[in-house]
Amino acid sequence: MRYAETGFNLEIDLSRGNIERVETDPRLTELHLGGLGTNAKILWDRVPSETEPFSPDNLLIFSTGLLCGTPAVGCNRTIVTTYSPQTLLMGYSMMGGFWAPELKYAGYDKVIFRGKSPNLIYVWIHNDKVEIRDASHLQGKGTVETAELIRQELKEPNAQVAAIGLAGENRVYTASIEQGRSSASRLGIGAVMGDKRLKAIAVRGTKDINLARPAEFMELCNEVLEYIKFRGENPVPGVMTILQGLGSPQEMLHVDEKWHTENFMWGNARTRRKDFWNKEVEEKWKETQESVRTRLISCYNCPMKCGAIISVPGLSTYMMKCFSKLTYTMAAYSDLDFGFRIAQRATEYGVDGFSTPQIMAFAFELKEAGILTDEDFAGCPSDNEERFYWLLDRIVRREGIGDVLANGTYWAAQQIGKGAEAYAHNNIKKHEQLPLKLGMLNPVYFLMYATGEKINITQIEGQFPQAPFPTMEEREAFVKDWIQVPDEKFKRYLLDWELRGERSNPYYPTVDMSVDIVDWQEMMHYIDDLLGTCAGLSSFPLKPPYHIHNYPHFISSATGIDMDEAGLTQVYKRNRNLIRSINVRRGLRRADEKPPEDHWKKRFPELEEKLLDAYYKFKGWNNQGIPTKETLQDLDLGYVAEDLEQRGIIKNE
Ligand code: SF4
Repeated sequence: MRYAETGFNLEIDLSRGNIERVETDPRLTELHLGGLGTNAKILWDRVPSETEPFSPDNLLIFSTGLLCGTPAVGCNRTIVTTYSPQTLLMGYSMMGGFWAPELKYAGYDKVIFRGKSPNLIYVWIHNDKVEIRDASHLQGKGTVETAELIRQELKEPNAQVAAIGLAGENRVYTASIEQGRSSASRLGIGAVMGDKRLKAIAVRGTKDINLARPAEFMELCNEVLEYIKFRGENPVPGVMTILQGLGSPQEMLHVDEKWHTENFMWGNARTRRKDFWNKEVEEKWKETQESVRTRLISCYNCPMKCGAIISVPGLSTYMMKCFSKLTYTMAAYSDLDFGFRIAQRATEYGVDGFSTPQIMAFAFELKEAGILTDEDFAGCPSDNEERFYWLLDRIVRREGIGDVLANGTYWAAQQIGKGAEAYAHNNIKKHEQLPLKLGMLNPVYFLMYATGEKINITQIEGQFPQAPFPTMEEREAFVKDWIQVPDEKFKRYLLDWELRGERSNPYYPTVDMSVDIVDWQEMMHYIDDLLGTCAGLSSFPLKPPYHIHNYPHFISSATGIDMDEAGLTQVYKRNRNLIRSINVRRGLRRADEKPPEDHWKKRFPELEEKLLDAYYKFKGWNNQGIPTKETLQDLDLGYVAEDLEQRGIIKNE
């Protein structure tokens, strides 16, 4: 019997219309756990590295995490993996909500799509019955609208539907996959879904999941629930409000946006408005937020309520959470009301709420600079907010200049030329980043930005405070119950970290400490993505309920796999190196690993090189960021080493 997982994947060939239920190899679960890990293994084994993202040979894998569907609180992530059209590297994006647990209850761990359908279709998975159905009547429909129409058509109000909108259908590189309570937005995975002519996947499952040692597992789940309650009553003192608690930053609950609006950049990630937030703005935004927020909502099996149902009068309802609340507002130098209104249209179109507003602000900056012309914007209204709607419509339809912009700022700038490249200034690995520009280089963040394969800083950071506490009393209080640290040395790193002087950024944390901190943060994110745990309860917040000490017990009691901390660390390393190897095989090298030039005002090129050197060495990689043969062999990835050697990527060093 298989525990925690179902032991079956669905393989759907969209070119042939063939559907297969395939039993999986339990040995792969032991080596990679599930979710992101087994997705990477499938991508490595089955998709040649030369494959174009829009090739029928590219796979689009929807995976549950290993613990999804079990009673583990907040384990509900769907991990979608493919080759990204924007970065051309492996793209993986997560969505919360209810979709992954539903798929498990239908009897599958993953749905793997290959090929391309000749017509627009959707897939209906209802336990053992799986159908490919015509979706021509859904062409051009919004994501929320599509989900509702499918539920009505199937007469299944409880079906969970993941859908693309017009942006995905038109292969817009920032197209998202939306599913009611969450979305997988980064890296253009919605464009790959559109390229496969797959409008939606509806799932309904009513089967059970087996647990190896249920009583033990339930006790662990109860401990997590107790701890969530405790943390709700005892927020972390001395850090900004959104970092005091658990979950995604609670921006649907809180109104105070002083920190974001004054520290993050407006427009095309260039302008800081230091005195923006005042009483008047706060009152106005509070009124706006409370008038459109119908209620707070959670993902499957989670008490945190990070999201909200948003109902703007005259518009259909949609779900929002986190920093998406501000991205359109700040890109357009507008107010919160505009942000809530345009986000409704953007959600129906299915676009990434981080990249898309930046692409539009980038375009208007190019117009001001005379690089794009009036001709490019023929018909564009002069009103500031209206012109954002106008451009959004053109991008998702790929009309006129919208067709160029639909590929994101990096590719658009290449195509436009005439110096446009300098305006696409906020990218890493060809992908737009959060509009954050700071003063002094932070060595930990430098490494995370440079080397992260997830291309999303908010999904890489966590665990270690973002800034030092001013006083020793605060630091001592923080470390007192810091049980999550994998090693006591992290407490010392924090205790000695000062705001100014020798023990402050950029030279403290030291190079070696920075590498240790990044490795810990990465490890937690990787484990979450294998298990399907929401980062908001594990890798992202300070002092979370899941950590390296209790995770092995969850895994062992759920799956029956004998797991301890050393074993779990090894699984993390194996998956980290496999994903790095997939990207190395697609051309990723040291030269690609750099944060935007203007991310910090004060840069330290020599120190940055040292940080990268030390990080690569710590990982067992060469100075190009390529895993060495020995590293791969030690992680049961000898077949990867052989492949890289045959290609001449690994030399006999
Ligand atoms: S913490 Fe928030 S985002 Fe995470 S699963 Fe719970 S409700 Fe969803």
